[in-house]
Amino acid sequence: MDRTQFDCTRCGKCCHDLRLPVSIAEARKWLERGGDVDILCEAIPWPVEPDASNAFAAYKRKRTFPATSGTLPIRVAVTLAASFTGACPNLGDAMRCGIYEERPLVCRVYPAEVNPFIPLKPEHKLCPSEAWQGVTPFAIDGIPVDPATRAAIEQRRRADEDELEEKRALCERLGIDKAAVSNEGFLIVSVGRERLLGALSELLSDGQPGVDWRSWTLVSNRRVTVDTLVSVDAVSEFDNGPQRDGVQYVGA
Ligand code: SF4
Ligand code: SF4
Repeated sequence: MDRTQFDCTRCGKCCHDLRLPVSIAEARKWLERGGDVDILCEAIPWPVEPDASNAFAAYKRKRTFPATSGTLPIRVAVTLAASFTGACPNLGDAMRCGIYEERPLVCRVYPAEVNPFIPLKPEHKLCPSEAWQGVTPFAIDGIPVDPATRAAIEQRRRADEDELEEKRALCERLGIDKAAVSNEGFLIVSVGRERLLGALSELLSDGQPGVDWRSWTLVSNRRVTVDTLVSVDAVSEFDNGPQRDGVQYVGA
C-alpha cells in the first residue's frame, strides 16, 4: 500500500501563473468577478471505436464530443480555463484565497489528480519537497483520504462528462473550428470576457452531445503529424505560435 503524507506550506505556487480547468458555472462566476477564461481545444483522431475493454479510451470518450476533420472522424475536448499571469486575482494577504468557500473544484482537489489514469507524483506538483514530508495522511495508493477531496474530484469529473453539449454549442456559437492534435499541444482561444460571458449565458443543453458536422482543422507544431493527417483526408495545418487574433498554439 502506497501512503502519501502531505501538509500544505502555503507557499502559494498553486495560485500563480495558471490556467485552471473550470466548469461552465465556475467559468461564469470567474468572469463575473472580472477574471479571464480561455478556451482550450484539442482533438483525437478517432477512425474506429476502440474495444469496449479499453478503459482509458472509454474515459476519453466520455469527455469529448464527436466531430470530423475532412473525412476523418475525431473527438474534440474543450476545456474552459480560468487564466491568470502572476498571482490569481483572488489571492489575498498571507497567500489566503479570497473566495475560499467558492473556490473552483480544481483548487479544492490540488495537489491530488482528477484524471484516474495519472498517478499522484510529488515531483509533478508545484508543492515544495517539505510539503510531502508532512505528517497528515493525504492519499493511499493515490486516492485522497479526505472525503471532501474525493467528492470534489467526482464533481470535477462529472462536469467534464455532463457539459459536452454546451461546449460543442459554445464552439459553434463562437466560430471555433480548430483544435490541437491531442498530446502534442493545445490551441488556446481567448475571445474576451464580455463575449464569452454572453455566449455562456445563452447556452442551452439538450442533454446529449450531438455530432458536430463542421469540418474541424487539426493543428500541430509537428510537420510529420500534419502530413500524416492530410494523407488520410483530414484538414490539418502547422502552427507554432505566436498568438494571432486571440488564438495561440502551445506545444506540449
Ligand atoms: S481561486 Fe483561490 S485557491 Fe484557487 S488559485 Fe485563486 S487564490 Fe488560489
Ligand atoms: S503549491 Fe502545494 S504547498 Fe504550495 S500552497 Fe499550493 S498546495 Fe500548498
